[in-house]
Amino acid sequence: MKEIGHWINGKHVAGTSGRFADVFNPATGEVQARVALATKAELDAATADAAQAQIKWGATNPQRRARVMMEFVRLLNRDMQKLAEALSSEHGKTVPDAKGDIQRGLEVIEFCIGAPHLLKGEFTDSAGPGIDMYSMRQPIGVAAGITPFNFPAMIPLWKMGPALACGNAFILKPSERDPSVPLMLAELFQEAGLPDGVLQVINGDKDAVDAILDNPIISGIGFVGSTPIAEYIYGRGCANGKRVQCFGGAKNHMIIMPDADMDLAADALVGAGYGAAGERCMAISVAVPVGDETADRLIEKLIPRIEKLKVGPYTAGNDVDYGPVVTAAAKANILKLVESGVAQGAKLVVDGRGFKLQGYEDGFFVGPHLFDHVTKDMDIYRKEIFGPVLSTVRAKTYEEALGLAMDHEYGNGTAIFTRDGDTARDFAARVNVGMIGINVPIPVPLAYHTFGGWKKSAFGDLNQHGPDSFRFYTRTKTITSRWPSGIKEGASLNFKPMD
Ligand code: NAD
Repeated sequence: MKEIGHWINGKHVAGTSGRFADVFNPATGEVQARVALATKAELDAATADAAQAQIKWGATNPQRRARVMMEFVRLLNRDMQKLAEALSSEHGKTVPDAKGDIQRGLEVIEFCIGAPHLLKGEFTDSAGPGIDMYSMRQPIGVAAGITPFNFPAMIPLWKMGPALACGNAFILKPSERDPSVPLMLAELFQEAGLPDGVLQVINGDKDAVDAILDNPIISGIGFVGSTPIAEYIYGRGCANGKRVQCFGGAKNHMIIMPDADMDLAADALVGAGYGAAGERCMAISVAVPVGDETADRLIEKLIPRIEKLKVGPYTAGNDVDYGPVVTAAAKANILKLVESGVAQGAKLVVDGRGFKLQGYEDGFFVGPHLFDHVTKDMDIYRKEIFGPVLSTVRAKTYEEALGLAMDHEYGNGTAIFTRDGDTARDFAARVNVGMIGINVPIPVPLAYHTFGGWKKSAFGDLNQHGPDSFRFYTRTKTITSRWPSGIKEGASLNFKPMD
């Protein structure tokens, strides 16, 4: 059995805890490797080494750090196919989708090449008589990232890119479900010239996470995952005096106005609802057509498109639209929620419950499901399903549709499909959700903007990537300076303005 350890001080290191988690091939259901689960002692030792390595890295000029990012981009492109296949084999998503996962992370590294510009401070000449005032952004020291299974390349890169470019050391605790790609990224960073010890990849579960939360050296934590864990990490990390940003779960609504291009809306819903088997935090899981006539037209267009979806293993290449979900437990949870939807009175108009794939009977495949007549009180509406299940809630008016998105506890992403500019503008202005698509179903902002939800989808105040990430991974120091020739007045005991 293949054993996956940690990446510490520039080397692969076996775990010492004796505890392991199974890494599955979700397409076959087989265990393909086991990953070591770190102890607090392992995490603490790796963190102490990272703190040592950070001193020199933090003092390296930003342009040199940016050159490491530049070379890393070249290496990621060189190894794209290999990385994508490794990613698909542990996650289950198709290879083209895995390449998208890597590409969206790579774009954040490209953004980080701008570190010399992004780290520039502010300067006020003559803030007072003979007095200059300036600020600089300094690394926070050792930062840590705790990441989910669903984007094993993109999200670690969103975290480690800005953290490293800002001059920090970084401890990554990736998901134990698909740990191989994060380790490959660490190898590539070494090849790109990153000094050993500056990036440590520690595999593990709650024990490793708790060790991060309690480690006194780690001063900032970026988390992405489900909301209950986000809340836990935010609370404990903040209580320990760290800066913490946590991004949680989602229930993204797409509103379809009567004037929308219905073919465009149906295609968008199929891509955003079922791509990656629905295991995306920006997946659309709720369709809200406005008016019964719109709903009828939409459902009529959705059914044949959904029934045509091809579900299969990543090895089947372009013949597959989406792959298995990540574990048997995830599959069981999705199917349980589907049953609850039926029991609570929703109409299952595409029923994927009987889905079987010959030769892959033990794989974690879930057929596509479409519900109509879903209501606000149902579990399938309230909970994040994180599977290929789209719920349709019929709204009578635009205000009712807007209210649904507003009242839901999650606020990650949302979209509106319409040909009317006024309605789209009103929606973007009023809805209390972090990322909005106008005729765009998955509005994931590009690397130079920032990514983050509202309400129970995010805790903390700065977003991921873009300029916010450079603020999160640095702290500001402001210097007020004058030179002896400017000091002429003798002592002053008053707290006074600089005039
Ligand atoms: P998860 O919360 O189960 O795990 C995320 C991380 O937390 C993993 O590294 C895991 O090892 C760790 N973890 C799990 N249980 C823990 C515990 N009890 N104590 C401490 N640490 C623990 O999430 P997941 O299943 O890997 O990912 C799917 C979730 O992530 C979905 O809810 C999805 O919406 C969300 N997500 C959100 C975003 C976003 O930016 N908002 C992006 C991607 C995924």
